[in-house]
Amino acid sequence: MMKKEIKTTCSYCGVGCGIVVKKDINNKIFVEGDKEHPVNKGMLCSKGMNLHYVANDTSDRILYPEMRWSRSHPKERVSWNDALDRAASVFKSVIKKHGPDSVAFYVSGQSLTEEYYIANKLTKGFLGTNNIDTNSRLCMSSAVVGYKKTFGEDSVPISYADIELADCFLITGANPAWCHPILFRRIEQHKEKNPNVKIIVIDPRKTDTANFADLHLQLKPGTDIVLYNAIGRRLYKRGLIDEDFIKNYTQGFQDYKKVILETSLKKASKICGVLEDDIEKAAEIIGLSKGFISMWAMGLNQSVIGTDKNTSLLNLSLITGHVGKPGSGPFSLTGQPNAMGGREVGGMANLLAVHKDLNNEEHRAEVAQFWGVDKISAKPGLTATEMFDALESGKLKAIWIACTNPLVSLPNSHRIEKAMAKSKFVVVQEISNKSDTVAYADLVLPAAGWLEKEGTMTNSERRISYLPKEIDAPGEARPDVEIFCDFAQRMGFRGFNYNSTEEIYDEYTAMTKGTKIDVSFLNYERLKLEGTFQWPVNKYRSKGTPRLFEDKKFYTPSQKAIFNVPSSIQNTAIETSDEFPLILTTGRIRDQWHTMTKTGKVSRLKTHYPKPVLEINPVDAYLNNIKDGDITEIKSANGVVRVRAKVTDVIKEGVVFLPMHWGKVLQSNLNRANNLTNTHLDPISKEPDFKFTTVAVSKY
Ligand code: SF4
Repeated sequence: MMKKEIKTTCSYCGVGCGIVVKKDINNKIFVEGDKEHPVNKGMLCSKGMNLHYVANDTSDRILYPEMRWSRSHPKERVSWNDALDRAASVFKSVIKKHGPDSVAFYVSGQSLTEEYYIANKLTKGFLGTNNIDTNSRLCMSSAVVGYKKTFGEDSVPISYADIELADCFLITGANPAWCHPILFRRIEQHKEKNPNVKIIVIDPRKTDTANFADLHLQLKPGTDIVLYNAIGRRLYKRGLIDEDFIKNYTQGFQDYKKVILETSLKKASKICGVLEDDIEKAAEIIGLSKGFISMWAMGLNQSVIGTDKNTSLLNLSLITGHVGKPGSGPFSLTGQPNAMGGREVGGMANLLAVHKDLNNEEHRAEVAQFWGVDKISAKPGLTATEMFDALESGKLKAIWIACTNPLVSLPNSHRIEKAMAKSKFVVVQEISNKSDTVAYADLVLPAAGWLEKEGTMTNSERRISYLPKEIDAPGEARPDVEIFCDFAQRMGFRGFNYNSTEEIYDEYTAMTKGTKIDVSFLNYERLKLEGTFQWPVNKYRSKGTPRLFEDKKFYTPSQKAIFNVPSSIQNTAIETSDEFPLILTTGRIRDQWHTMTKTGKVSRLKTHYPKPVLEINPVDAYLNNIKDGDITEIKSANGVVRVRAKVTDVIKEGVVFLPMHWGKVLQSNLNRANNLTNTHLDPISKEPDFKFTTVAVSKY
């Protein structure tokens, strides 16, 4: 029986808005923004304010475990016992025959921290492989590497509360007006009250965010680093740099200076396709500001040069000394609600729990000792796209996919289809039968969703919140932690016999003690009674830590922040050609979320952008004989998409845009943007490049 009202957190984006859930006279739940929540102060965006439709509508829910004995058999309903016994028996026999690296777990930035922790412990501690990765690889991994290279650890230094203290925002490779709406609303409100606040947007599209900006630099895709370096050069030449900060708290400035002075503003302007005058204006606004915040998302991260884009942008905060002080700092915008929590528990193929380093023997031994196992493998696991390559090549035999829909979200979808078809055993743990990946499962496990299980999440500003269980899951669906723990015990592993989710949380927080992400002073009781906290929450900072690096001591060995010089300044992985003369970039739209298994159920969320369309510039449309509304065929080296054209100067000449949400495997799937995209990866972060695929467009 649900209480009169409960407080929880939105299950969509990394903004992490507080939600009050109530019941109406028909016993149906409805949601309101939590007026007391420090993030959203009562506001909700279109997705958040419609969450109750998703929770109330169980028509698409997977209700029972289903299994097929072979690919020639249909799936049939089975008991949980039969389902998990089969999973354990297949995993045991595959590991016995082919070794632990022949199995993998692919999880999600929507998983709760406790779920992530258990999946990571199970895989790295007990199955004996680091083959666990997450769909956060597709959105955050370049930012993680950027922070580590600059500050020594994956640490977002800033809070949303700094928004109201800043007078300059550089928003680049992000469209928060659509993708992080409540955070953007705070920027809008701040500017409305303080007209002197300046907003610079760098994006190849004239997005709603760009429309609100004082200055929009509509750059050519892939030239971001040239532009950031040109701004850095201008700041240096104008003397708008913080020499004291550079001298006392950073290293590597001389190498950085050499690089930024190599390219003239004139040359940079030509490469980037933006006016020299605008580069100068941007530098002037940043250099004269008292509080400078940079914000970015997928435009930087999803690139073959994503790591270099991140560090080059972070260099602008270092050169101006805008780190660790009010209203200042580099702020990566998390796409998913708990991508940050996943990183904390080490839920990626190259990470260890509590920010320990997989390459460090001592760290591996510490984690092994904590979990009571002999060792953690030193071999980095397969990352998201590498897992599917390994399935296709036959090196990986069995995969367990939880809370994500790779058939639509991973790049080069046809390759993912082939990989799934070649796999020996696929487990899909899901809430919705609308997930395209379910069609490829040998075993389908029904999972509990939002409000149907408890746990914690961490938003973009390191804020941990507790999400209570308030309603029962339909049918036989179970919380993900229960499913993982039950499976682990059937595998014969010790250490998974928890009495509650709280015990899992307590185990994790004990592990954080003494680390940079120490939350050993934060338990469920405090979260329930006192609300949300920003890590670290330890004996020195029992109320949490809104801002990092106020003492200017960074987490690098020298305690100085590091200027990194990019190994490449432009995306040269792929170039336009006569065959494929246009650059395709993909992204989100305002009212849909990921692959639409949740937001696609809500009819009022379909009105804003009902169908996928190809945004094409009037010049490119004319050259290709395309009129607004025509059905167009978009071809790349990887596949074909057919959708209607929207002829618009929102998009830069030479570039076209497709939204990433649509795609139905069992239908024509010709609206799936990832039919076209490449599997080119950043060499360090292994994040795929969704922002630069060369294509040809014609009228169909
Ligand atoms: Fe939910 Fe993000 Fe919208 Fe807030 S901004 S209501 S967290 S989707």
